[in-house]
Amino acid sequence: MNVEEQLTQMFENHNCPDYKWIDPALINVCQWVRFKCQWGCNNYGVRANCPPNVPSVEHCQQFLSEYSQAVIFHFRRACTTREERYEWTAQINAELQAIEREVFLSGYYKAFALFVDACHLCDECAGSRKDCLQKMTSRPAPDALGIDVYQAARSVGYHIEVLTDPAQEMDRYGFLLIE
Ligand code: SF4
Repeated sequence: MNVEEQLTQMFENHNCPDYKWIDPALINVCQWVRFKCQWGCNNYGVRANCPPNVPSVEHCQQFLSEYSQAVIFHFRRACTTREERYEWTAQINAELQAIEREVFLSGYYKAFALFVDACHLCDECAGSRKDCLQKMTSRPAPDALGIDVYQAARSVGYHIEVLTDPAQEMDRYGFLLIE
């Protein structure tokens, strides 16, 4: 089994069969995304994996530039309540973290996963990296690192739109940086 087949099997085993490879150099990391966190998101200053508890946008750009390969995982579902969405994405994020670990153990020592949304592994977030209750397993979401998820998803042919009704199906994306 070659590496791609091995990873395909691994992704399927973790219920993440819908994915595409993406060149990290083609993923935009932008100040405007950070501004949207700062002015427009209730997680700002509250969650341990959200701004300002994350590196600067410049450091996030540098971080991505140190990888030659990435995978973008697609998930789609409608959730009528916020709680339903958190429950759904917490399951996905646990799988992404497990994938990161397996990929790491298979020799890709730089493997790093990005969750599909703000980490909700705990009922109550500790609110800072220092106090995070699951330091080994929690990971930031791509937008927390300044990644333009719309641009990244569309660049490889995935669908994503601004939604206007909570009952609409949403497209969510997680990432795995790998080398
Ligand atoms: S693991 Fe818990 S404390 Fe850490 S970021 Fe996630 S929800 Fe917050």
